[in-house]
This record gives sequence, C-alpha cells and structure tokens, in this order.
Amino acid sequence: MVIKGFGSIFATAKLRKQKRKITMAIIITDECINCGACEPECPNTAIYEGADDWRYKDGTSLEGSLVLPNGKTVDADETQEPISDEIYYIVPDKCTECKGFHEEPQCAAVCPVDCCVPDEDHVETEDVLLGKQRFMHPDG
Ligand code: SF4
Ligand code: SF4
Repeated sequence: MVIKGFGSIFATAKLRKQKRKITMAIIITDECINCGACEPECPNTAIYEGADDWRYKDGTSLEGSLVLPNGKTVDADETQEPISDEIYYIVPDKCTECKGFHEEPQCAAVCPVDCCVPDEDHVETEDVLLGKQRFMHPDG
C-alpha cells in the first residue's frame, strides 16, 4: 500500500481547488431562437443581436485606445463586426460569466432553450474573469 506524505496530499487538494476555479465565457449555440430574452440581462453588455455591430465601450467604462487584461490592444469606441449574422451572440472579451455581478450566468438563467453554454475555447480562471469585470467597471 502506498501512503501519501502530507506534501502530496496538500498538493492534490490544491490542484482540486484550482480545477474548481477554472471557468469560462459563455457562448450561444445555433439552437438560439432569437427571442432576445438574454440581451437586457447581461451586466457587461456582451450580448448582441445577430448582424448588429458591437463596441467594447457599450455598457462599460472603457473608452479610447487601451490594452485589455489579456494583452490585446483595442479601440473601445471602434465599431466591431458582428460575430454572428443569424443569431444572438456573445463577445468573449466582454463576458465574465457574470462574475462580479451575479452568482450565475444570467443569459443561461433566462434562455428558454438552454443554448447559452460554457465556451470551451475561452477557458479562464475565476480571478481572470473578476479582473475583466473590474477592468470594464472600475467604479463598481
Ligand atoms: S454569462 Fe453574464 S456576462 Fe456573460 S454573456 Fe451571459 S449575461 Fe453576459
Ligand atoms: S435567450 Fe436564448 S434563445 Fe433567446 S436570444 Fe438569448 S440565446 Fe437566443
């Protein structure tokens, strides 16, 4: 029988804790029925109707040229191309999975067809998501 030392046990516990903190932005799948229920619920104005342009400054304190916490340089005032022309979409850079505002993603909570799901391509830690939220809303 292998008996683990305290160091090994603590390391395993720490890894489990870190894994629990891994979370991700939300994405809208093509099952969306374009009901529009999610858009007004987003505290970061990260949700847009299909074919609509979007901006970093919409619903945030961001303005002008700036560097995002992820290192990307953007112009917050600049109009950006829609991510989808067909269905409502979520801007990953603006989605914090509602961290800093709510206990759970509000879009997923109101969606009648459960098509707001974790985005496997945008995995971020809770700390990173909270950092994004503070960056977009420094005044609370
Ligand atoms: S999870 Fe929250 S922040 Fe992200 S798109 Fe949905 S409502 Fe907006
Ligand atoms: S609530 Fe769901 S079905 Fe309605 S627009 Fe948003 S993602 Fe689409």
